[in-house]
Amino acid sequence: MATAILVRGLTKRYGVVQAVDGVDLEVAEGEFFGLLGPNGAGKTTLISALAGLVRPDAGRIEVLGKDVQNQYREARRLLGVVPQELVFDPFFTVRETLRIQSGYFGIRHNDDWIDEILSSLDLTGKADTSTRALSGGMKRRVLVAQALVHRPPVIVLDEPTAGVDVELRQTLWRFIQRLNREGHTIVLTTHYLEEAESYCGRIAMLKAGRVVALDTTSNLLRRFSQHSLRLRLA
Ligand code: ATP
Repeated sequence: MATAILVRGLTKRYGVVQAVDGVDLEVAEGEFFGLLGPNGAGKTTLISALAGLVRPDAGRIEVLGKDVQNQYREARRLLGVVPQELVFDPFFTVRETLRIQSGYFGIRHNDDWIDEILSSLDLTGKADTSTRALSGGMKRRVLVAQALVHRPPVIVLDEPTAGVDVELRQTLWRFIQRLNREGHTIVLTTHYLEEAESYCGRIAMLKAGRVVALDTTSNLLRRFSQHSLRLRLA
């Protein structure tokens, strides 16, 4: 199996805060991989570095063999990123937002694919609604849709189910599982141990910018009790 994501010696400091401290990770193609850790563990910084949004102080990241620093355009095309923050240009409708994102990747005439994504995420009825009029949950769906417009093989999601209701959480998980079954590599961060347990094949636990445990989900659960895993996330 090829390597979807390779992280070597990744280090990022903000002033006195060592956000990411020498992280090594390897995610194989087709994996469903979870990054867990308490607030401030460095999950978002790691994902932002993967997406090329944060420049690391040291180390390197590759997406399917493309170096995020030196081959940014190629690496970015292979990656769909669902950020944590619900930020949109409020003047556009959902469909326009997805067309603009397609344009960002130089893709024209993407409407058939956009329709398919909208339908899979139960967003068809909102296609012509302006993003500013959407609820938080709907915005979250649009973020996921936006990450998929260029059909990336690797999808990275930063807390996709944070702050959404139970029903939407289930819808999102079903959808992410489907993407994984269809061959997409999934990497996500979550605070919810139950969700990581249910969906991730392997988990890396981050604490203070370091990987403190990395194993298959079943091995992690064997090694640590539910209780001690929960404490590690606190
Ligand atoms: P959460 O689960 O709360 O989202 P996280 O695991 O994603 O946390 P990060 O957001 O990566 O953690 O933050 C790691 C550390 O780096 C924290 O101490 C945070 O305060 C700090 N940090 C992150 N971004 C910045 C920034 N732009 N400027 C200064 N410090 C930052």
